[in-house]
Amino acid sequence: MGNKNLIVHNYGKLALSIVLRENGEGYRASLKKEAINASERIKKFLLREGKLSHEERDKLIEDFLNLDEKYFKIEKIRVKLPTRDEQQEIVECTECEELQPNNFTATVNGKILCQLCSGQSYFEKI
Ligand SMILES: [Zn+2]
Repeated sequence: MGNKNLIVHNYGKLALSIVLRENGEGYRASLKKEAINASERIKKFLLREGKLSHEERDKLIEDFLNLDEKYFKIEKIRVKLPTRDEQQEIVECTECEELQPNNFTATVNGKILCQLCSGQSYFEKI
């Protein structure tokens, strides 16, 4: 996003990774499941046990800000930073014969497959 210093990948998880742009090294903080024991509001929010009222939501933010660090898993990581598409070679998918930058393909059993043909499709044909 913006100057490409913030990259959002949604994996459906409550986790945040902060890394150095130069080498991709940094830390990932994720919420442990035990956090549901920390407060009723956190439990309700994490397990989607119902809609939180405005007041509950305000208190939920406080709960998270005051949450003991034992409820977080901290890991040292290195992320694979995305390469710029315009520097990538354009290759043809063996299956659908469509063209795309090389970093959007995978080699499976000696075939170059685009993301859609390798099963990572976001749509289905109807
Ligand atoms: Zn394909």
